[in-house]
Order: sequence, then structure tokens, then C-alpha cells
Amino acid sequence: MLIGSAYMSDFNKSRGVVFPRNVLLGHGILGQVVGVCDDFRFPKTGMIVSGDTTYAAAGKDVKELMEDAGYEMHVHMTGAATFANSDKIIDDAHETGAKFILAVGGGSKIDLTKIASKELKIPFISIPTSAAHDGISSGRASMKSDLGPVSADAMVPMAIVADTHIISRSPYRLLASGCADVISNLTAILDWKLAKNNRNEAYSRSAEALSMYSAETIIDHSKFIRGGTEESVWVAMRPIIVSGISMSIAGSSRPTSGSEHLFSHALDILHPGTALHGEQCGVGAIMMMYLHKGDWMMVRDALENIGAPVNAEQLGLNDSDIIDALTEAHNVRKERYTILGDRGLDRKEAEAVARATMVIG
Ligand SMILES: [Zn+2]
Repeated sequence: MLIGSAYMSDFNKSRGVVFPRNVLLGHGILGQVVGVCDDFRFPKTGMIVSGDTTYAAAGKDVKELMEDAGYEMHVHMTGAATFANSDKIIDDAHETGAKFILAVGGGSKIDLTKIASKELKIPFISIPTSAAHDGISSGRASMKSDLGPVSADAMVPMAIVADTHIISRSPYRLLASGCADVISNLTAILDWKLAKNNRNEAYSRSAEALSMYSAETIIDHSKFIRGGTEESVWVAMRPIIVSGISMSIAGSSRPTSGSEHLFSHALDILHPGTALHGEQCGVGAIMMMYLHKGDWMMVRDALENIGAPVNAEQLGLNDSDIIDALTEAHNVRKERYTILGDRGLDRKEAEAVARATMVIG
């Protein structure tokens, strides 16, 4: 007893890990959304959060399926991932009495719902119509703010219903970006290990395993992932979902977000709306892998196989834009220690890495 109580008083670490309870992935799986809601014994009043394109792609069908099964579904059309828009979802849910949310859309609709359902303390189901990044399964939301992009703590989806047929009809560029986002886990993990060694930062080998599994699966299949085939969506979606889940295990975005993400965030601040998040992270991963003295050519080849951008021109940026973002990257999230260190890169160093990796000509 004495030993037990001494032990209890010395050891007081604890942390919860929240996972999605049900992940459905496959052709024509959308019809099973009703069964998922029934299994969870959701109350009969819910809300669909969607956007114009994504409502036409899947939201309308979800509403019909749910209403045929006796659910009352309010539709909330929304836009960009801003806190003003998540507040509107919260107000609407209070007004309509919605007790759960079905997020039907790409990244921003799901991010908005994650924030709103956390505040509302009600569950939500992620129903992606595209997969441009690994946030469809994670408990973190990428939000736009006046100060640039922020990663906010949010609700993990209770279930994911990913219909490969619907996702295959979204522009291929989005899926290629999602794959590039997951490939960039390679440098995120190297940065995390660096932070563990140099800064004694908490590290999770199980999160590392899932993050690496995701990146390696995409790289191994990179020659087979292309536009116009539903099989490509099938191959890519599982690692994209697992990548998001690695963040739940870590309790942070560390296993999927390192210096390459800092580079992408810097581009979002300096040149918002030019390229997609995953596309920028992919190009960032080429350069950060070079700095880590790793196999950056392998990263580049995989991105090229998939048809994701590998240089400034393909991102729609000038050479100087890349150098600007490289020199600013270490300032974006000061607490996130990476290969860029506290000092970052000066212009000469930035130009050298971008040129050596063929990101600039
Ligand atoms: Zn990302």
C-alpha cells in the first residue's frame, strides 16, 4: 500500500488519445452514412455543413438519404476556413437545435466543422469530397486569420465516410496535393527527431510509425497514382487518413508538419492563394530533405510520378518568392524546432538549397 501510494504520487502523467471510431472507405460508401448515424444513436436533428460545389457533388445526396431515414437535416452553406465562418455554424446549430454535424466537402468545410463541433460539444462525421491534405481525419484545423494561417486544436471526427467514386470526380490536382502533403511527413519526422535530440522534445514512436507508413505507401505506389482512375483514390486515401490519425497519437501535428510546412506557411503569408498547401509542402520537403542530407531526389521523383509540382514555376511562383519564403520560414512558428534552427537561412543559403534541388532554375 505504501509502495503503491508513493508510486501514485510520483507518477502523474496522463493524456487522452481520441481516434475516429468508424472509418468507411470505398466505392459507393456514401449510402452507409445513415447506418453510421444510426449505430451512434445520433438524435434525429442534425446539420450538414457544405459549400456550393461540394453540396452538388455529395451534400444533396446525403440530405436525401438522411431525410428518407427520418432525420431532420438543416443545411449550412459556408466558405473559407475563418473563425467568423465557424462562429456562424455555431450560431446556426444553436438556432436549429442540431445535435450532430455531417461535414461534406474538401478541407475548409471539414476544418470549420471541427472547430464548431468542439465548441458545441457535439459529434461530427467527416465526408470528404476531395482529399487535398491529411486534415480530413485529424483533430487539428488549419484556419485563416489576419496574422496568417493558424493550426487550431479541434474535434476529431467520430467517423469518416470516404466514397472513392465521389472523390475521383474532384479535380486530380487536389488528390496529388494530398499525396504530396503525406510525402512531406518524411522531413517532418526528421525534424521531430532533431527536436527530440537537441531540445528534449517529447517523441512518439507509434506516431512516427503511422506517419512513415503513410509517406512510404504513397511513395511506393507513386507510379500508379494518376488522374481519372478511382483506383488511384483507393490507393491514396488510406495513407492520407492514417497520416491524419498519427496526429491524434502524437497529440500535435509534429509527425506530419516540420520545416517543409513552415516553408508552406511562409508562402501562405507572402503569396496567399497561389498554390495548394500540399503542393507547397511537397516542394518544401525536397529542399528540407537536402538540408537533412537525405535522399531528396527520391522525394522529387515520387512527387513527379504523381504529377505534383517540384519547382517554383510549377507552383506558379518566381525564384525570388521561394527564397523569400525559405528565409522567413523559421519565423512562422518559433516554438517548432526544425532543421532551420533558430537562425533560419540567409538569402545566400536559401538560394543555394533551392538551386541545388532544381526548385529554382
Ligand atoms: Zn499538411
